[in-house]
Amino acid sequence: MRRKLVAGNWKMYGGLARNRDLLQSLAHAIGKGGKADCAVCVPFPYLAQTQELLKGTAIAWGAQTLSEHAQGAYTGETSAAMLADFGCRYVIVGHSERRSLYGESNETVAAKFVAAVQGGLAPILCLGETLEQREGNVTEQVIAAQLDAVTQVAGMNGFASAVIAYEPVWAIGTGRTATPQQAQEVHAFIRQRMAKSDAALAQRLQILYGGSVKPQNASELFGMADIDGGLIGGASLVAQDFLAICQAAG
Ligand code: PEP
Repeated sequence: MRRKLVAGNWKMYGGLARNRDLLQSLAHAIGKGGKADCAVCVPFPYLAQTQELLKGTAIAWGAQTLSEHAQGAYTGETSAAMLADFGCRYVIVGHSERRSLYGESNETVAAKFVAAVQGGLAPILCLGETLEQREGNVTEQVIAAQLDAVTQVAGMNGFASAVIAYEPVWAIGTGRTATPQQAQEVHAFIRQRMAKSDAALAQRLQILYGGSVKPQNASELFGMADIDGGLIGGASLVAQDFLAICQAAG
């Protein structure tokens, strides 16, 4: 039986005062842990604050991207080792906003995934198709290409501590959620594809769903056989909503 994980993606939102309220509410409510695991992925400047406020709780934290390089003259970049210095467990890799707004190709995403693993972090690898691709019936091809680009470089061993998040681009921040059946189909496809190379690992692998998850739709989504929790954007910024989603996973 896989444990469920609910990870928040704060995106580029937050501020010291607002974060303090949010993190303290989470620590108060689920600090000792619950039936599901819980994590928040925060903007870089708030990693120290997050570490301070969540230290000693059962809530994990992480970042939203990282450099594919270990160190060097890469102005503005942040390495896996730097994230590990701040106690990060997770780092999101290949979020659709990084792919579409910052030109991250499948190859770049794969290199970042490897950098995360080498730095001792657990990458949350995001995969997802656009609306046009779904309507063109190429969802599985798109997901396969995104996934294979990473498995070819990282190998199956690279996935030992990794998490996959299926996030249909058309459902992110739009209020339009995949139906539980639509999400389940893609999750099963991902697991089966991983199982071709390593059946045991595929069985253990946590595959999260992301895309307009709310307290109202979380239970139904998390009730599907291959959905092991969620990557939560907007709703992770509201303590009450995020807590309700964590509870739905428990
Ligand atoms: C996300 O940012 O990964 C996400 C899923 O956002 P939202 O929950 O707001 O759709």
